[in-house]
Amino acid sequence: MNTPVQKNDQLTVHIEDLTHDGAGVAKVEGYPLFIAGGLPNETVEVHVLKTLKNYGFAKLKSIVEPSPFRVEAPCPVFYECGGCQLQHMTYEGQLEWKESMVRNVMKRIGKIDAPVLPVKGMDKPWEYRNKSQIPFDLENGEVIAGFYQSKSHRIADTNTCLIQTDEADRLLRAVKENALKLDLIPYNEETKKGQLRHLVVRKGRATGEVMVVLVTKHAKLSKQEEIIQFIREVEPNVKSIVHNVNNRNTNVIFGNETNVIWGRAVIEDLIGDVRFEISARSFYQVNPEQTEVLYKQALDYAQLTGDETVIDAYCGIGTISLFLAQKAKQVLGVEIVPQAIEDAKRNAELNGFTNTYFEAGPAEEVIPKWYKEGKKADVLVVDPPRKGCDEALLTTIIEQRPKRVVYVSCNPATLARDLRILEDGGYKTKEVQPVDMFPQSTHCEVVTWLELV
Ligand code: SAH
Repeated sequence: MNTPVQKNDQLTVHIEDLTHDGAGVAKVEGYPLFIAGGLPNETVEVHVLKTLKNYGFAKLKSIVEPSPFRVEAPCPVFYECGGCQLQHMTYEGQLEWKESMVRNVMKRIGKIDAPVLPVKGMDKPWEYRNKSQIPFDLENGEVIAGFYQSKSHRIADTNTCLIQTDEADRLLRAVKENALKLDLIPYNEETKKGQLRHLVVRKGRATGEVMVVLVTKHAKLSKQEEIIQFIREVEPNVKSIVHNVNNRNTNVIFGNETNVIWGRAVIEDLIGDVRFEISARSFYQVNPEQTEVLYKQALDYAQLTGDETVIDAYCGIGTISLFLAQKAKQVLGVEIVPQAIEDAKRNAELNGFTNTYFEAGPAEEVIPKWYKEGKKADVLVVDPPRKGCDEALLTTIIEQRPKRVVYVSCNPATLARDLRILEDGGYKTKEVQPVDMFPQSTHCEVVTWLELV
């Protein structure tokens, strides 16, 4: 193969960027080499491991000139665990990289020239995850637990995770030490033997309430009463203990049978002034502190006076909808998962909102139907999954011409693509605000404000 570098070459290269997996990217005569552990602006010596037609992989041998943002990753399993990608970079460096990544994607993919503001980050970018899903296994007769290694189902054994809550850390350690005594033998994915598959810990940040879910293979917990007692002693703030049964041979964490074995079926949390009930299975943003920052930004961009009808497309359990409903005449939310719509309705009721309406279905079908029925939006908010908006939905927006669109995105690339379509259809992107929902990872959320011109 005619590539500028060959397997086993030793070279010194300059790293320019990071991939989505957090690997450094260097270019040799335009040929990209991916270097795990390398950071932008570093000069490094590498050993080429593998070359493909359009790119190759190299191993970091030594750092000739380090990035000013390089730090010792604080987590002992950082290089094994697939959870975080950027702990070897200062938080300031992470935010700077995310801002430039968003700016580049806007220019390159969308030809969007709107200002990209500095990323809104966290004061304390640790212990932010309010939900931990911890797999268990046995290794040489010892119980191990932690998180999966990158792109694999091998567990990086750990006693602490720096981005999860203290409560999850304590429960992880306690269950690990006592699993065998409690007849919770870890389940093995290959032999399909054993009982304990996952420990899931959720915490309401504002309320301090904790939910513990044990996912096991068999429906019977032989020491159920002891387990309940044990969890309550380890975690006095536990309000709900749930048992989920998953006896299928699958990667999916939860099975279909869910039983509350102690306490309530839900815990509560607040985002701003809005209260949410969270059950074992319901979707809820994992970083509530930054969720509030994100939604406040969406609300600011919506510029509501109280007279507007707002459509919230891809509304999930109605988190953004209820935030908007505080300032709008009316909010219509649409979401494809019926259970999430049930949660949205219940949460609207819990908070006493009477100006919300939720419907289950694909946004690209329900919204055109609403327009035909005379339900028109002054402001339209979209928060689609990573693949971005369905083209039919973008067409509806361009035809129906709501005066303002607020686009919340977890994938800057599909966002830039969709903004281009909206700009070609008569909108102008006014401002782009990235928000860091996932410190220590390469992910970046973005809120965008568009006006009809
Ligand atoms: N706005 C919510 C959820 C955003 S995640 C929040 O902030 O919590 C994106 C949501 O889009 C998911 O809940 C997913 O189920 C939903 N979804 C995916 N495809 C959809 C479609 N075609 N129509 C409507 N909703 C869809």
